[in-house]
This record gives sequence, structure tokens and C-alpha cells, in this order.
Amino acid sequence: MLSPCTVCPRECGVNRLNGELGNCGAGLEPEVSSYHQHFGEEPPLVGRCGSGTIFLTHCNLHCVFCQNHQISQLGIGRKTTLEDLAQMMLKLQGLGCHNINFVTPTPWVPQIVAALRIAQEGGLKVPIVYNCGGYESVVTLKMLDGIVDIYMPDIKYADNRHADTYSGVPDYWDIVRPALAEMHRQVGVLKVKHGIAEKGLLIRHLVLPNGIAGSRQCFEFISRRLSSKTVVNVMAQYYPTFKANEYTRINRRIKTEEYREAIEDMARLGLDAGFRQTLDTIFRTIVPEWTDDLKNE
Ligand code: SF4
Repeated sequence: MLSPCTVCPRECGVNRLNGELGNCGAGLEPEVSSYHQHFGEEPPLVGRCGSGTIFLTHCNLHCVFCQNHQISQLGIGRKTTLEDLAQMMLKLQGLGCHNINFVTPTPWVPQIVAALRIAQEGGLKVPIVYNCGGYESVVTLKMLDGIVDIYMPDIKYADNRHADTYSGVPDYWDIVRPALAEMHRQVGVLKVKHGIAEKGLLIRHLVLPNGIAGSRQCFEFISRRLSSKTVVNVMAQYYPTFKANEYTRINRRIKTEEYREAIEDMARLGLDAGFRQTLDTIFRTIVPEWTDDLKNE
């Protein structure tokens, strides 16, 4: 898949085995910015000992408001080997992490799968989290069936024009829907046991100013085409960073009314599993009553 590269929907066709770089800037050797126990992810991923997060460098999206732009777009990270990547996973498991959480895995799927084989031979057992922007190839996702336990994609926009303007992809809405449907087909709704996520789909949606994210259409798709039991984290923490101040419509935080409207739309559509943030303090996350009988449909 790396030559010609068809790992993601951009299908650049470059020969990454020979060092050519495509749109994302990812080459042959995996590049990692950092890896650590992460306590800032959703509670069922964090548990008591944290999510074993591995931040991979480069991204196939180019969001002008990316909060991780140093890693995703400016290439901050170090080249590593498959063996070292496997060792990172084993170290995180050794620290008690409840999962291995690959952040921005999309350009690196072949390398991750190769490193996972080494890690599993070394005793890796915890669930694998695929933490991505939602711009995924269904062909590639099908190859991950049985390998990824928890998919955690964004659903960023319901309008291709906005996706083109703010993330540099003119077909996001056309790509994200079949991608999320494939993830749902593979793992179903999120299953949580004793407060820890074991398997399933957890979708993130960042509310943007001026309705740019198309929140209601995103929720309609999730509720009607996937499942109304889908766990959705509706995030209010948008702030204009990186190049966002060059775009008038996203050059501010969201208003309370905009967030309220999004969660009211969710409620109307029957999406009541997931995470909301309180309106008085967006930093306090309301955790739903997780039960062990949250089943796959
Ligand atoms: S993974 Fe990178 S090089 Fe490969 S198709 Fe996608 S953007 Fe292009």
C-alpha cells in the first residue's frame, strides 16, 4: 500500500518505500512525537492508569485550526523503528495503561500493523485505539478488521466546501460517512466494562463557530445511519489557533448558545450516550452512567 501509496483517500500514489513523500509528509519509517500515559482522554479510555497514547507525526488533513499542528503539520517528531514502536506499546502496557491509543494513525497504518505483530509476540494484550480525523479509506479500514478494538474518529464537517476551506479536503463529507459506517460495522457501539472501554466506536465532534461543523447533519447521520446508541463526545473547547485567525468565520471561540443548540439537536435525535460539557464551565465533563449492559445492536 505504500507504493504507490493508497493508504488514505488522497491516494497520492507516491512511492514511500523509496522515500517519496505525499500530501501528508509521512515517509517509510514511523515518526513519533511522544508517547505517554494520557489522563485527558475520555473517562472510559483513561480509567485509573491512563490511556497509552502514542502521538504519530504528520496527518492527511490540514486543519487551519489544528491544536496539534506542530506535530501534524510541522513535522515535529522522531523517526523510529518498528521494533522501537512495539517497545513503546509494551512499556505503556507495563505502566498499566488500559489501551494503546494511536493518535493520527492514518498515514501509518502499514507500519502500525507491522509493529503490532512484534508487540503482540512480546505480550501486548490491551485494546488498540484508532484515534483519527475520520478521513479514512474504507479499503484500508477493512484491513484493520479484527486488529483495531476501539475506533475514535472525528466527524468534523457535514459540508464539503467547509472541509475544503478549513482542512484542505474537498470530499470530507463523502468520505467520512462510509468510513464511520465501516468502523461501526466492525466494532459496533462502545462496550464498557467496569468503567473501561473494551471495544466499539466513540465519535468526537468539535462544535465550530457559525455552524461551520454542521453539527445537526452530523448527528442525523450518526443517529439514523449508524445507531442512536452511538457514543458521541460533543466538544466545546474550540479556540482559534494556528492559522485560524486568517479566517473570519472561525476566528473566535464558540458561544454558549451554539453549544446548547448542538446538544439539543443531539437530544432530539435520540443520541443520549456520550459526553456533554456543562454550559457554565466547559471544562467539567459530565460522565454518563456507564453500565455493563450497554450492548452492541
Ligand atoms: S497516506 Fe499520505 S502519502 Fe499516502 S495517500 Fe494518504 S496523504 Fe498520500
